[in-house]
Amino acid sequence: MCYRQCCKCNKKLPATPGNVVKCETCGHRQKVSACSSQYHLQALLRHDDINTTVTFFNDTLLSALQLFKVDTKQSLSEDIVVEAFLNTPMLFVTFHKKTKVVATVSVAEN
Ligand SMILES: [Zn+2]
Repeated sequence: MCYRQCCKCNKKLPATPGNVVKCETCGHRQKVSACSSQYHLQALLRHDDINTTVTFFNDTLLSALQLFKVDTKQSLSEDIVVEAFLNTPMLFVTFHKKTKVVATVSVAEN
């Protein structure tokens, strides 16, 4: 769900238990702590009896979590994220028709 991004080529870095990671794409070595984290989450949406799997990336995932009143400053575990999504009765999203990447998120106001 969460991966780190190469600071040189922006490609996904392999998970490592150490402090230094080498990018498999461009060979750049970097400190794990210096790489930015990227979150992505796939969610199944149901609309008019049609199921669509959409993908949240960093920006939309974080704005969804903020709508859910989740503190996004903490380190986000998969449990926290999944629970927040499951606790939300209604979530409106717009997504790109072809790529299924979520563009905007909002929740129903009561
Ligand atoms: Zn790289």
